[in-house]
Amino acid sequence: MSLELRRERLTAEMIDPGTGEPVHTPIEVRVDPLTGHSSRILPERGLMPASDFDLEAFAVQTQPTCPFCPDRVDRLTPRLASRIHPDGRITRGAAILFPNLHAYSSHSSVSIYSPRLHYLPVGEITRELLADNLATQVAFARAVMAAEPQSAWASINANHMLPSGSSLFHPHMQGIVDSHPTTMQRLLADVPPQRFDDYLAAERRIGERYLGNTGRIQWLVSFAPIAPAELRAFAAGICSPAELDDDLVGELAHGLALALGGYAEMGFQSFNCAIYGAPPGTEGYPLNLRLACRSNLKPFYRSDSTFLERLHWEGAVDWAPESVAERLGTRFRS
Ligand SMILES: [Zn+2]
Repeated sequence: MSLELRRERLTAEMIDPGTGEPVHTPIEVRVDPLTGHSSRILPERGLMPASDFDLEAFAVQTQPTCPFCPDRVDRLTPRLASRIHPDGRITRGAAILFPNLHAYSSHSSVSIYSPRLHYLPVGEITRELLADNLATQVAFARAVMAAEPQSAWASINANHMLPSGSSLFHPHMQGIVDSHPTTMQRLLADVPPQRFDDYLAAERRIGERYLGNTGRIQWLVSFAPIAPAELRAFAAGICSPAELDDDLVGELAHGLALALGGYAEMGFQSFNCAIYGAPPGTEGYPLNLRLACRSNLKPFYRSDSTFLERLHWEGAVDWAPESVAERLGTRFRS
């Protein structure tokens, strides 16, 4: 069955203050085929400038009081209840997971890539670092679900750098395992399974936003993005982070590292990520994620999240998804 990607071109008219002549601006409204959210694609006008911020100097400034750095992480971060995990923390490689001091759900976790990586630019987040960090989150989701089966909604997320919502400089991911879905988890879990297949088939056929298949995971640029340079990925056959085996964790980490390498080349140092789990066993639901750039860190920066995104739930970006796909190139195909 073919799926229609709905888009409509609008035109804004104004009189140029300099020439007194009429000026026409094209705006495209697109509808996300999965959740029905709409998004406005604007002509490029430099809303997301590349980073010119001295991240390393800011790292040096924030390090002396950082609770995630060596010597402090053991003393200053909380431990998991023993009914969830007898060790109180979950480790893999250099990654360490512990409860979030500021809980967002009945089970909220923070996982750092390494106590030693206080300074970790986006372009240096490797597949290995991502795989170890993701593996701690997978183990956390499994441990919570084993102890408390009603907490079936798991997600793995990232606020990377302050503009994305991160309150601490030291790079980390965050897990939520809860009895209640977030709004987006609920909307995605309500999508009929066939619609995911139809969407991916349509994007593969059109080709201009489809990035590639890393094995069992397909990557593409969002047709109707909520946020700048937004990518999506879909893993068929599993529906919860708790069901990711080591191979899939490695493959997911590989794709994320490719995408983040692309963001770094495009000049971005801040991003959000959400891997949206549905309860294990949800028939036909593919585990899927959104990854998006956020404004770069600098004093008095412009937030990329405006009244449209926050209060209208409407995306507005000045980088066409097709242009993002072009910039990311063939990195997912080799
Ligand atoms: Zn630190």
